Amino acid sequence: MSNYTAPVEDMGFVLKEVVELEKLCKEAGFDASTVDIVETVLEAAGKLAKEEIEPINKSGDIEGLKINSSGKVTTANGFKEAYQHYVEGGWGSLQFDTKYGGQGVPFVVAASVQEMWHSANMSWGLCPLLTQGAVEAITHNASEELKRRYLPKLISGEWSGTMNLTEADAGTDVGALKTKATPEKGHYLIRGQKIYITWGEHDMSENIVHLVLARLPDAPVGVKGISLFLVPKILVNEDGSLGETNDLKALSLEDKIGIHACPTCVMSYGDKTGAKGYLVGEENKGIQCMFTMMNNARLTVGLQGVSIAERAYQQALSFCKERVQGVAPGYKDAGPIIRHPDVQRMLATMKSIAEAARALTYTACAEVDMTAGDLPTGLLEKHNRRLGLLTPIVKGWCTEIAQEVASLSLQCHGGMGYIEETGIAQIVRDARILPIYEGTNGIQSMDLVGRKIIGDGGLSIKELTLEMQEFANQTMLSSLLSTVQLDHFKCSINALEEASSLVLNNAENKHHAGMVAFDILMMAGYIAAAWQMLTSLKKARIAFENKTISSDFFESKTKTVAHFIDSILPRYASHFMVISSAKTGVQ
Ligand SMILES: Cc1cc2nc3c(=O)[nH]c(=O)nc-3n(C[C@H](O)[C@H](O)[C@H](O)COP(=O)(O)OP(=O)(O)OC[C@H]3O[C@@H](n4cnc5c(N)ncnc54)[C@H](O)[C@@H]3O)c2cc1C
Repeated sequence: MSNYTAPVEDMGFVLKEVVELEKLCKEAGFDASTVDIVETVLEAAGKLAKEEIEPINKSGDIEGLKINSSGKVTTANGFKEAYQHYVEGGWGSLQFDTKYGGQGVPFVVAASVQEMWHSANMSWGLCPLLTQGAVEAITHNASEELKRRYLPKLISGEWSGTMNLTEADAGTDVGALKTKATPEKGHYLIRGQKIYITWGEHDMSENIVHLVLARLPDAPVGVKGISLFLVPKILVNEDGSLGETNDLKALSLEDKIGIHACPTCVMSYGDKTGAKGYLVGEENKGIQCMFTMMNNARLTVGLQGVSIAERAYQQALSFCKERVQGVAPGYKDAGPIIRHPDVQRMLATMKSIAEAARALTYTACAEVDMTAGDLPTGLLEKHNRRLGLLTPIVKGWCTEIAQEVASLSLQCHGGMGYIEETGIAQIVRDARILPIYEGTNGIQSMDLVGRKIIGDGGLSIKELTLEMQEFANQTMLSSLLSTVQLDHFKCSINALEEASSLVLNNAENKHHAGMVAFDILMMAGYIAAAWQMLTSLKKARIAFENKTISSDFFESKTKTVAHFIDSILPRYASHFMVISSAKTGVQ
């Protein structure tokens, strides 16, 4: 079984060459010296991931969690210590505001580091993921007083954060939630039950800051009557010290298919006197506030898809180099299965998808940094539109392809893949949650079609297809691709344009939009990923000529891009067929 090694060379390449980190720092107002420390940051994070977080992945899966009668949760052996080292290393604070103890590094750099945590140990990585979302929601919506009291410890990681939307009868339909908030002097009393709360209770941090959606008395029905509250596990005194325990607890832990070491809690608020909570943002505007958190989490769940794909590929590669079986064409003796063309096909598919997903996801994360920059209004709006468009694509596409890559990796292992011992079974089990949480992929696709394509009259998708067309027409591309490959890419962009027009022309027909939404998302994912792969190829050629990347890396990237364009991009056509036939009612 392989251990995980962070792919720092590809990560560094995507950050520096594809995302153009130096330019991003200049334009968005980050310290330009970030570029010089990228390799050091990636190496150090890779060491923590490999030496401390990955070694407790399998043991955590087997050991799971314990909950006692008073609702206290004990994490698997080694989790607490690894988390402590993560906090001491300042890893949680990379991208946050220096005013509250953050390091002010671009989000895209922090995202590359987070990719490592999830590759190494998805259960563990979910704790920082949720905390980061809570920091975002508080930063953008809470009062100065709440920020002062809660942000520094959340940013340092000494306290962790959660997101509490779901209730038994309010999942996708979050507007149906029933948890109540009653105004008191200076705070609210929260009463209700939430389910599936990730890292809702645990022993890794000294406090847990829950962000809870609840309803005020006489609030309007549906999402318009939801408010957001900050509900700490332990109340925080004026001077920042910890006070009394709040009236909330974990009632039980879910018994899940995967992520066994991650506590998924049924949480009870206000069983006794009511849990003290503090309003974040305005009354009845909770869903907008929660969206700051959800949008961030959606991108990072997409990133988890990249992590799973990378990990699954590494695991398969290592196994295929060692497993001896059969005589491959062109060989005289039995040898490692990596010699077999069909095994090579699976490995090439896994590698090219993982690299494409990384390039696409980092590109979207870079948009987060651009939207935080001090840009002229028109440009800022454009970056906001691009971020809005890419977010459901990254969440949906990267988590769908993660299932494929995990499954292919298992396939490479043959019968041993189906046996827990190799570890690939855990990756497959852990990965299966990705298309479900943070809004199912069905909901992501409707967000893409409803809000992002129809909602802005097709402006953002038009901007994207136009940019891709201009890119495809660059003279340099014709020297890097065959005519067939280049034509194929251009056709795919035209098809995406046509698919968007079909959706826009049928905007009144909600059934049509719902029927084709998933295919639009997947089609957009394949094409946008191809665009990023071709950008990678172009940048790799320039970097190779400038001697800033090795010939091995250039050769590998060239092969991976070719495989993606020849074998993966064509999948867009089947999605396009579904979209085209839905228009004529031939479904
Ligand atoms: C391991 C795990 C961790 C989680 N962590 C958290 C957490 O930390 N915080 C939190 O608040 N929640 C969390 N969740 C909840 C998760 O976000 C929800 O499970 C998810 O949003 C789907 O809601 P649901 O389970 O009620 O499914 P449902 O809403 O019942 O959906 C079932 C199916 O119907 C489809 N569907 C439903 N409504 C529509 C619609 N309007 N249009 C089209 N299709 C629709 C869905 O796409 C899905 O395929 C977690 C869940 C799990 C399993």
